[in-house]
Amino acid sequence: MSLMIYNSLTNKLEEFKTVRPGVVNMYVCGPTVYNYIHIGNARPVIFYDMLKNYLTYIGYKVNYASNITDVDDKIIKKALAEGVSEKEIATRYENYYHDNCQSLNAKRPDFVPHATEYITDMITFIDGLIKKDYAYNIEGDVYFRVKKLKRYGILSNQVTEDLQEGARIDVSSKKESPLDFSLWKKTEDGIKWASPFGEGRPGWHTECVCMIDRIFNGEQIDIHGGGMDLKFPHHENEIAQSEALRHNNIANFWMHVGRLDVQKNNKSGFEKMSKSSGNMILVNDFKTKRELMALRFLIVTQPYRNNIHYSEELFNQYLSEYDKYERAYKQASLALDYNRINEDDILVEDKEEFISYMNQDLNCQNVMTLLSRLLKEVNVCLRSKDFKRLSQKLNMMKQIFDVFGVMFEYTPLTDENRKLYESWEKAKSVKDFEEADKLRTILNMKGII
Ligand SMILES: [Zn+2]
Repeated sequence: MSLMIYNSLTNKLEEFKTVRPGVVNMYVCGPTVYNYIHIGNARPVIFYDMLKNYLTYIGYKVNYASNITDVDDKIIKKALAEGVSEKEIATRYENYYHDNCQSLNAKRPDFVPHATEYITDMITFIDGLIKKDYAYNIEGDVYFRVKKLKRYGILSNQVTEDLQEGARIDVSSKKESPLDFSLWKKTEDGIKWASPFGEGRPGWHTECVCMIDRIFNGEQIDIHGGGMDLKFPHHENEIAQSEALRHNNIANFWMHVGRLDVQKNNKSGFEKMSKSSGNMILVNDFKTKRELMALRFLIVTQPYRNNIHYSEELFNQYLSEYDKYERAYKQASLALDYNRINEDDILVEDKEEFISYMNQDLNCQNVMTLLSRLLKEVNVCLRSKDFKRLSQKLNMMKQIFDVFGVMFEYTPLTDENRKLYESWEKAKSVKDFEEADKLRTILNMKGII
């Protein structure tokens, strides 16, 4: 079965086909860097990293780009408050962001473009929209003329008339219509650039379109991703600009990851994380590798299009799941290492089962049932000392966790530790329990068993 992906653009499950055979060009909207990231921000980072792992696993070459928004009102505000440059704020929080990603085992994308490196591209792009009458300049502020684009609303499935009715009318605004969105902002405070429209800075919606254009040479890409909250207006507006100037909707597949909501204080339900509710859980709050990997395990295996209802209880479940797999992983690795078995084969039917689940729109929940079966089999093989089968099952488990990006550690035996382990095995076999106990304590203390 081929890979099926739910396309947010058509609202259908579709067979995944790429523009060029064997190559996936993928872009995901990255963070605005002015704060530490919370676990809701980490969700798309982890999901798309896992998606790249899987696409690579089934043989694609993936070119993955995810941007850094390093110019924004919030960055400017923070810079002014601290009396430092925007660059200083952006660099500081970008570094924290990369550290957090790394601790969650999310690899750095192949391209990490910064908005401020694309100002010239954005000016040219906005100028092109003005020339085609899709944008207008009012005293240095440039807006996109939404009503000129007949297909506006194709991503979020809304028609302009409905949107118009729902839109807030800002009487102070100079815009022709409340739906029109900002392409270039005339600014007094903070960082600004010279442009034919006047001094100012670009709006957020234009940067992604320009970066995609530059990085992927103006070609339609295969996947454009992001969090569900970006679908409207951000992604709708990205499409609108591209439709207007390039007559394409940027990507063949649009994918959106659900939110991560946290349990309310009184446990009566779940709510969105926000600074004002004081319910933010930061990635920094997860201190150990075990906690970080359990968090990643949780995020990866929840249905990606649904909101996650995150609670301490759910997290604790994943901690004990993680411990279970880690224990089996270590014991099996040790048994194979000790018996000098180093084979990398797996059973075709196991691999096919894994792929069949993942090909159903990344159904990682089904993979969980496969994992628990493999875990049982690993434990059975350990007891029966069927090392050939043990290595096949362990290898399959490893492949799945590699795709998930959930890591376990095993340090191969040194000569000294091998001897120690051997003595323990011997003591057990001759039923010298006193000696066996002593050796077990040492092995335990050394973290070998
Ligand atoms: Zn974007």
